[in-house]
Amino acid sequence: MSSMRIGAARELACAVLLVTSACVVTSLAHAEAKAIIAQDARVAGDRERTRFIADLSKKVDVHVFALASPYRVIVDAPDVNFQMPEGVGKEKRGLITAYRYGLFAPGKSRIVIDVGGPFLIDKAFVLEPRDDQPARLVVDLVPTDEKTFQAKLKETRPPEQASAASMTLPEPPVRAPDAKPVIVLDPGHGGIDPGTSSADGVTEKDVVLAFAKSLKAKLEATGRYEVYLTREDDTFLPLRERVEFAQKKGAGLFLSIHADYFPQQTEKATGATVYTLSEQASDEEAKELATKENFSDALAGVALPSDSDEVVANILIDLAQRETQNRSSVFARSIVGELAGNLHTRKLRSAGFRVLKAPDVPSVLLEIGFLSNPDDEKHLVSDAWRDRMGNSLVEAIDGYFAKRIARAPF
Ligand SMILES: [Zn+2]
Repeated sequence: MSSMRIGAARELACAVLLVTSACVVTSLAHAEAKAIIAQDARVAGDRERTRFIADLSKKVDVHVFALASPYRVIVDAPDVNFQMPEGVGKEKRGLITAYRYGLFAPGKSRIVIDVGGPFLIDKAFVLEPRDDQPARLVVDLVPTDEKTFQAKLKETRPPEQASAASMTLPEPPVRAPDAKPVIVLDPGHGGIDPGTSSADGVTEKDVVLAFAKSLKAKLEATGRYEVYLTREDDTFLPLRERVEFAQKKGAGLFLSIHADYFPQQTEKATGATVYTLSEQASDEEAKELATKENFSDALAGVALPSDSDEVVANILIDLAQRETQNRSSVFARSIVGELAGNLHTRKLRSAGFRVLKAPDVPSVLLEIGFLSNPDDEKHLVSDAWRDRMGNSLVEAIDGYFAKRIARAPF
């Protein structure tokens, strides 16, 4: 009886409160206790002192730190839902040249602020909401010289960033000789890193995820392969973790899927291009593309090993790696053979793609088309095209494994 009375009293309280916005906020907060909404952001000040401000629905704990090459400020926070206005992040002001935001890992959100030169984080704090003002994240930057910037960076480097570069790759698991070959499909970019985008805002991260999911379903339907995606949703994944994922799964093939953008020759740049790993880039275009794709980590605010080219070179010396390289080329040629009419070039291109560095996994990077080309863009979002292109890739993969079975056990 008494508990009913309490229940009734609660209902009444809520009914009274329901007419005020406070109750709506409370019930929303109850439903999504973790969701903090970032509604807007802006940059104020000048080169002497530049302030980054983000409006939040409530106070949140943040971790703010600097990264070098390129100069960046990283703001990490748990579970922020970004509902920023269109076009935010492109304004240049004072020391800040641009910023971006998004999901960095499940439950972990990140804002990456690009800075034009050496700087110091003078202040970083989050203000409680007050009166009609939302909660606010404030980061103040001041200019400094390179030496001071580097010294401060060493002092404050987060421990996991420092050790990431020296981590060794996991050993592949031992698999039964008659087990189905494992294929890892790697939709590029994701979360905070959208990749490239078309003039209408179709993003690379979305088209490559849709394509990878459709290809996975096709490969599984053959009953011949075990297939995994490096990411299943709009989450960012560092390049190294994609490589590790393939190693850990004991992949027999790794296919990284991307879409390109070439604004200089919108008409000519059309169709798919196949790339493998090499120490020396096959041509200027491949070199530029590898730089662009390798930049994914920097965009998302991952600290890079100090000399990633050296890492690529070291791996290539290894004999086992050479065999992997041969297999990668066989697979690449198989794709070129099947895609024929859908290719940008029949030439096999190669460069130092960091995502193709798994030492034991034949790896190919496929640019499925150009988002800068309006016809390609139509294809990239079309189910019918995805279906045709997917069928050709299944043929290419079947062809690759048929050759391998004919030649030697693997
Ligand atoms: Zn890409």
